[in-house]
Amino acid sequence: MIDYSKLLHVLDSTAFIGLDFPILQSIEVKKFLTAHSVIEELKDFRSRMNFDVMLQTNKLEVSSPNPQNFKKLKMKIHKIDPNTRLSDTDIQVLTLAWQEKGVLVTNDLTLQNIAEQLKVTTRVISGKGIKVIRKSRLRCMSCKRTFRVSGQHCPECGGVLKQYFSTSNSNNLLGKE
Ligand SMILES: [Zn+2]
Repeated sequence: MIDYSKLLHVLDSTAFIGLDFPILQSIEVKKFLTAHSVIEELKDFRSRMNFDVMLQTNKLEVSSPNPQNFKKLKMKIHKIDPNTRLSDTDIQVLTLAWQEKGVLVTNDLTLQNIAEQLKVTTRVISGKGIKVIRKSRLRCMSCKRTFRVSGQHCPECGGVLKQYFSTSNSNNLLGKE
């Protein structure tokens, strides 16, 4: 059993969209962290506002990963997936979570998959709170198989793939997972 409230939560840009104040207050996490480069990606009003509120209420710190760790993870990621779509900003938040032994909060499927392979725990923000992702996969709408691949069509039958999360419910984050 992990007490998530004690772990540092690193936020990528997709996490800020859903992290409004009521959700933020319902989450028992002491400290959030994000990378400097994420700020430039917060273009819509909602994520910008959530970012400002978190900063003003001292819930959030902005940092940069250790450059050596960043390089190391970037190389690892390119070995896992030579055609990775992950940006330097994505890799920076992933590196922060990795080096701080924290949790990465992201709604980006590619980032979740890579994080899983680097043994970094990821959580996703939903309308009701924040959930731990057990496994993020794509599921075929026709044959119902699930895949780790990225793409729009099922490698087995050609059906349409949709994002599929296997999550555990945890609004209170008190380690009852
Ligand atoms: Zn299929």
